[in-house]
Amino acid sequence: MIRLLILLPLALSLQFCTYSQSNKKTSMDSANKTTDTPESNNPVYSNTDSTKVNLSEAEWKKILPADVYNVARQKGTERAWSSPLENIKDKGTYYCAVCGNALFVSDTKFESGCGWPSFYQPVSKGSIIYQPDNTYGMSRTEVMCGRCKSHLGHVFDDGPPPTGLRYCINGVVLDFKKAQEAEKKYSAKKD
Ligand SMILES: [Zn+2]
Repeated sequence: MIRLLILLPLALSLQFCTYSQSNKKTSMDSANKTTDTPESNNPVYSNTDSTKVNLSEAEWKKILPADVYNVARQKGTERAWSSPLENIKDKGTYYCAVCGNALFVSDTKFESGCGWPSFYQPVSKGSIIYQPDNTYGMSRTEVMCGRCKSHLGHVFDDGPPPTGLRYCINGVVLDFKKAQEAEKKYSAKKD
């Protein structure tokens, strides 16, 4: 019950998109959490392999950082405004931090004022799995990674055109790669 009372305001703010400046975190604590890339210590991480990943929760727990595990595998929600990815506008691709599956591109990211990175469209139909979520007395739609079935966040129908959808995603389960980095890699290969 105590756990529910703690989680309920968080869930409600996710649902109703309550804008609260006082919650705005200026510290970049989660940005400094680790210098490891998601690839390190993670044998299933790949930006190119689309083979479905199906590990036991015990295996995930060994592979993933605690904060990623909590959101991705236990359907947790990160604190609003805690993600350094929430307000970035760089061009690039957002991959699943658990398995490397491409989820969103920066062109579809928008400022929702919700405190979580928000997008109006996934990178492809198969990149996301949808599931009804009726927890906390609300009727929501959960979104999960199409490759590893990790929890990402929820989708709501109050987003901007052209889709009218708002994919409200926990930044901790996103791995952002800037476009230039990919281009640099590509031109380095050509030389
Ligand atoms: Zn994934």
